[in-house]
Amino acid sequence: MSLITLFDPWKSSLCTCPKKYSLSPYTGCSHNCLYCYASSYIINFKAPREKKDYKERLSRDLKKIPPGSTLAMSNSSDPYLHLEKDKKLTRFTLKTLLEVDLKIMIVTKSNLILRDLDLLKKLKKVVVCVTITTLDETLAKTLEPNAPSVALRLKTIKELSKYLPVACRFDPLIYPLNTRGIKDVIKKLKDSGARQIITSTYKTKPDNFKRMIKAFPEHKKVWQEFYLTHGEKKGRYTYLPYHLRHTILEEVKTHSQSLGISCSTCREDIPEFQTTVCDGSALFNC
Ligand code: SF4
Repeated sequence: MSLITLFDPWKSSLCTCPKKYSLSPYTGCSHNCLYCYASSYIINFKAPREKKDYKERLSRDLKKIPPGSTLAMSNSSDPYLHLEKDKKLTRFTLKTLLEVDLKIMIVTKSNLILRDLDLLKKLKKVVVCVTITTLDETLAKTLEPNAPSVALRLKTIKELSKYLPVACRFDPLIYPLNTRGIKDVIKKLKDSGARQIITSTYKTKPDNFKRMIKAFPEHKKVWQEFYLTHGEKKGRYTYLPYHLRHTILEEVKTHSQSLGISCSTCREDIPEFQTTVCDGSALFNC
């Protein structure tokens, strides 16, 4: 089996990302985000491990994808999870990528990426997407227990954006946890150097819903009403009702526009918010 696969999460028209490939040096993730979608389909997700014979397989598998393609790291793990400090497979990957003609997209919550700034600066086409869900450190610690603090993530955006284009994933938006103070978050992200906001609302799957309710029992009733009673089922996910998604996303869009930063939504099934490039790849040309 190849380490590199086509990114095609749902085989669904809801996904408007341009064609790209996906690569993860690790299986599973140690950040333990309550809302994680990947934990439902990866065995022993909370016990991350390196992929077997990764270094040997990487060069061989890179040869199979067409030059000029976009390669995203990682979509079902964080390439800078805790293991990376010692294993350095992501660093090894970046060194290898210096030799090929690909556009590289990195999605992370970790300041460990700054360790690799020397390599990132040498890549011809690279975009980094840093995820921030809230400016509230206490909320972030509950939602993403093992991920770096908000302050460290903001510092990471600031430092990276001196040298390369940075988009910010402001998602998932979980009503009502992080849907207040949206303007403050966007302003902070823009002031830190982010050039694009990518956003989406929280969708439930049975395992993440269970974790969310356990951590926030005070919201159990409202979530059951919005998701289980009035929510919209799409594929294996349950969405907030249309009008609530619309209200939340409109706020992100309006504040982004007023603050002069581009904004795109991800798999929301609201045509007026749909953008042709939703994942930060427009920044390859910056
Ligand atoms: S960083 Fe991403 S993959 Fe890792 S636990 Fe959080 S949501 Fe899941």
